[in-house]
Amino acid sequence: MRAIIKAAEWTLGPETAEGAPKAPMYEAECTSCGASSGATDEGSLPAEVWALKHTGANPQHRTYRAIITSFWRVSPAEGNPYREMEAR
Ligand SMILES: [Zn+2]
Repeated sequence: MRAIIKAAEWTLGPETAEGAPKAPMYEAECTSCGASSGATDEGSLPAEVWALKHTGANPQHRTYRAIITSFWRVSPAEGNPYREMEAR
């Protein structure tokens, strides 16, 4: 994904720095007790499985907050003086 807003001289895209997650991170949090699956960048399945197991072990805990985290970066677009400065 790469978007350019004409009025601005900046572009917004996914964070590509080394060590940044390559995919959105998924986490499930129990709204009854606050327990969390932990966040992973391996798709939503690990968090979904964790939620099912958590309810299996705690049958009264049936609602979850699904937290999906992505990292973005704003970079100077062509014509933005920062672009030339950072290229040096
Ligand atoms: Zn719980």
